[in-house]
Amino acid sequence: MIGGDAAGMSAAAVARRRDPELEILAFERGPYTSFSACGIPYFVAGMLEHADVLISRSPEEFRESGIDVRIHSEVEGIDLEARTLTVRDHQGRRTYEEGFDQLIYATGAEAIAPPIEGAEAVEPVRTVDAGERFRSELQREGARRGVVIGASYLGLEMAEAMVKRGMDVTLIDQTDQVMGTLDPEMAAHVQQAAESEGVRVLLSTNVEEIHRDENGRPTSVRTSEEEISAEHVVLSTGVKPATELAEEAGLEVGESGALRTDDHQRCVGADGVWAAGDCAESHHRILGRGVNIQLGTHANKQGRIAGVNATGGDLAFPGVIGTAVSKICRYEVARTGISEREAAGAGIEVAEATIKATNKAAYYPGAGPIWVKLVVEPGSGRMLGGQIVGEEGAAKRIDVLATCIWTGMRAADFELLDLSYAPPFSGVYDPLLVAARRAAQAAEKAG
Ligand SMILES: Cc1cc2nc3c(=O)[nH]c(=O)nc-3n(C[C@H](O)[C@H](O)[C@H](O)COP(=O)(O)OP(=O)(O)OC[C@H]3O[C@@H](n4cnc5c(N)ncnc54)[C@H](O)[C@@H]3O)c2cc1C
Repeated sequence: MIGGDAAGMSAAAVARRRDPELEILAFERGPYTSFSACGIPYFVAGMLEHADVLISRSPEEFRESGIDVRIHSEVEGIDLEARTLTVRDHQGRRTYEEGFDQLIYATGAEAIAPPIEGAEAVEPVRTVDAGERFRSELQREGARRGVVIGASYLGLEMAEAMVKRGMDVTLIDQTDQVMGTLDPEMAAHVQQAAESEGVRVLLSTNVEEIHRDENGRPTSVRTSEEEISAEHVVLSTGVKPATELAEEAGLEVGESGALRTDDHQRCVGADGVWAAGDCAESHHRILGRGVNIQLGTHANKQGRIAGVNATGGDLAFPGVIGTAVSKICRYEVARTGISEREAAGAGIEVAEATIKATNKAAYYPGAGPIWVKLVVEPGSGRMLGGQIVGEEGAAKRIDVLATCIWTGMRAADFELLDLSYAPPFSGVYDPLLVAARRAAQAAEKAG
């Protein structure tokens, strides 16, 4: 395995279970294996005391199960013909070759350096050790101002984490909305939640330069409009699949820029070579094309599938529909399928319905708002996408929508689905059912 996190170590673990005799080597250039990058914002916020709770299985634990994990070991070259890897041992300061019969490529994704002067000196906070370094910087005395560049879910989570530490935080994005995976009117609720928690949000704003002191630490950020003092800067300006090594070895990338695989995670045109996780392309079941959606949920599943198939099994990955959740300040945020904007980009005609309801019965203590947007096929009313923003209990409702979209259900059939009800959880008609009724009407009107 090249890469010792979600995809690589899922593959290693399943391969070990399937074949106790197999010689398994995993190369990881960092100090940790199987870590939860997803938990980094909560560690940065101070909600978790120690970073080690983010490690689900350490290199030692893997070694106890007979997996030869080599940390601080970076693979620098792959020779597919000779079936060898060139490995740089950063601690031993030596380079050596290691052979393989089956190779699982699971190198993840890497931050794209934005064209901003000074950005090259800002370390991306994508690994547990980077999270530890960033948190200890935040604890520096007198350094209370932060700027986050890029208002993706990661940027928003990091902005919230810094606000939780009592800092002044500005979140900047060059587009005109936060969270580009949502349609603008749904994203506006997320922006409002962040602002009401104290995050200053600047949209349609370009960052031109990050100024630094003589030690390389940020002092301010210059935008097209103003100069903002900041001792801490987080870049959340996008990531790309880490495919360089694979491409050098002759492996093929697909239309999304990630490694092309078949549905068994087998790299196209390369026998015994598999790719999984953030570096690999997935088939989008609604868009009907290859996409690269970088989520832990896909990385774990694809890693497991690659591990099964590399050890003689036969397991297929069925594709993705873009289901994702996060929590931004007081709102839970979720999406699945395609948004109205994605549909327009792909030339797919859709109808839509958006409703506002409450997350519990309106009279129940603690009831708060929930917005649901459904995107459906005109005429048939086949459900194509959903977005939910709201208070407690909002996000995981997306799984019901995802299930129905996955199976091709129509909004008219969803409308009377036997969903549960009691006042602490919803009104008598769940907000999803209300949205489905409206979407069915919109589909009929548009058909
Ligand atoms: C802050 C943050 C929050 C996130 N939150 C969520 C969330 O809430 N939900 C969700 O589903 N996903 C979330 N994600 C995404 C999720 O963490 C990734 O999708 C997942 O970690 C991908 O796993 P992977 O194994 O494919 O890649 P990675 O986790 O990136 O692992 C790849 C590993 O390969 C190693 N490597 C790379 N090149 C080499 C080489 N040449 N030699 C040796 N080792 C190499 C890297 O050091 C790395 O450890 C989040 C990510 C971040 C950064």
